[in-house]
Amino acid sequence: MKRGEVKLITDGKRIDGRKPEEMRNVEIKLDVISRSDGSAEVAFGKTRVLASVYGPRALFPKYLQEHETGILRCRYSMAPFSVDERKSPAPDRRSIELSKVIRLALEPAIFLEDFPKTVVDVYLEVIEADGSTRVTGINASSLALALAGIPMRDLVCACSVGKINDTLILDLNGREDNYSEVDMAFAMMPGKGKITLLQMDGLVTKEELKKLIEIAKSTCEKIYEMQKNALREKYRVSE
Ligand code: UDP
Repeated sequence: MKRGEVKLITDGKRIDGRKPEEMRNVEIKLDVISRSDGSAEVAFGKTRVLASVYGPRALFPKYLQEHETGILRCRYSMAPFSVDERKSPAPDRRSIELSKVIRLALEPAIFLEDFPKTVVDVYLEVIEADGSTRVTGINASSLALALAGIPMRDLVCACSVGKINDTLILDLNGREDNYSEVDMAFAMMPGKGKITLLQMDGLVTKEELKKLIEIAKSTCEKIYEMQKNALREKYRVSE
């Protein structure tokens, strides 16, 4: 079956029972790896991604150092058991691309120029994949960076939007992603109003594109509150 040919909406409900603009349940866990400088696990429904941050630390070999700024490295990786068919743990084209786009989505938020010659490493491990892993990973990374005490301009919040059976939807699951007419990964710094990632597959009209961005932006605002609440909860001083 081709994209757009699979029935994914029946009587206004998606295959997992959601309405078109409904998100899956979001779960946030902080400090999941004691050895890291900052770590967080975020789940959107069955999609679960762990992010672990190390640094800023001196970068070796020395020729990789930038004298004017620190650098950010991201590694996106899927656990062999995270998908239906065993996933080889070796990096493939997709994980190399995703590592890059995640880095580009996070970089604008970090004051890397304050840490010349250093590196900040972000390791993302997909524990279970059911669509939208890159955006789930960006949310986990944003929290892990904040927990590592890395100075940031803003948190980075991300979600996916798309189109199935001619209907615009929010937060694609795996099957929806595979057979969607359009899917878009979106990230932004809500406090700054700046978009840091917009990737799209498929064709949309100008009106649909505007609407998709509108849905994505208002969802990122909600995720912003969830990220801030999780951080506040951790640092709350009990009275
Ligand atoms: N997927 C899979 N095996 C793979 C890669 C992807 O089963 O090797 C599934 C997984 O559920 C993933 C979805 O396909 O979330 C969509 O992958 P895509 O490349 O669009 O990235 P994502 O939406 O996860 O950011």
